[in-house]
Amino acid sequence: MPSETEASASSATEVRALLGDYAKMLRLRGDRTVLLGREALATLEKLASAKDIARPAAQASLSSTTVRPQTQPQGHAMSLAPVAPVQRVAPQQDASPDRKASPAPAEPAASPSSSPRAPVAQGSESKAERLEALRKIVTPCRLCEHLAASRTQTVFGVGNPDCDIMFVGEAPGADEDKQGEPFVGAAGQLLTKMIAAMGITRADVYIANVLKCRPDMPAGASGNRKPQPAEMRTCLPYLQEQIAIIQPKVLVALGLTAIEGLRGVQPGTITLSKMRGQFTEFEGIPLMPTFHPAYLLRNQAITEKRKAWEDLMKVMKVAGLPISERQRNYFLAK
Ligand code: SF4
Repeated sequence: MPSETEASASSATEVRALLGDYAKMLRLRGDRTVLLGREALATLEKLASAKDIARPAAQASLSSTTVRPQTQPQGHAMSLAPVAPVQRVAPQQDASPDRKASPAPAEPAASPSSSPRAPVAQGSESKAERLEALRKIVTPCRLCEHLAASRTQTVFGVGNPDCDIMFVGEAPGADEDKQGEPFVGAAGQLLTKMIAAMGITRADVYIANVLKCRPDMPAGASGNRKPQPAEMRTCLPYLQEQIAIIQPKVLVALGLTAIEGLRGVQPGTITLSKMRGQFTEFEGIPLMPTFHPAYLLRNQAITEKRKAWEDLMKVMKVAGLPISERQRNYFLAK
């Protein structure tokens, strides 16, 4: 059994590793200053004064990023949240069309940031190189310890970094977790067909999820569960970085949960029926909320297909894609 000192050293090392990962992400974004709340600063000071703990690489990583106490109101500054104790949260009613009720996952250990993101560092690197650098940070991420423990791998995103259209889903499911690519199951196959109907291919767009790890399920349970707001909040900065690097002309949010994750709102605050079909905006980019393909698989009504298609035609228009007469008439009742 580890002594109290050994346990504390191990926990501090883990905290430093998390901070190191986060600092790497900040530097990638071009941030050179981190604003901290008093609580976070006190936590860091405690870690820094622990004499019996070897200085890990993570602390060295932070040293090239200036850390100063937060003086601006929360939400207007980049915050480095202290690691919170892992807590269980109550399961929430499943509003997602394709996912089961949540089995009360643990809260993420830390949040990279819930504040507005800084511009990504503009260097001579291509979008593909910058995405690859980000992927290297996301791959070993363990900010949500419970998801890191249950995942097969992180599911970063796939497609053309120079695309005009980017699709955003909620989280990887079992198939995506196995293959490491978003939207590869039955819903993914339908998404591929929807993209083909637009006159382009899957390789022409970029596809990513708000959450990069599959939401964990109780042992022996099959299927997928809806991600918790706290999980999506923790992972959202990675998606924000992907969007900032790619700078698509238009974003498409697939399903209500993806919109909730992008907006950072609690389930039940918005409805897809009110939002879909009308452009909103995310980080200055037009965002079209539409049905998740899993919903369209279950609801085969031609009226629902037509609604989704009308949303996609609006997306095509913003992306500058031609729309033929034949395309205009898809899914119209004869
Ligand atoms: S869900 Fe996102 S933030 Fe959480 S462990 Fe996975 S990659 Fe990290």
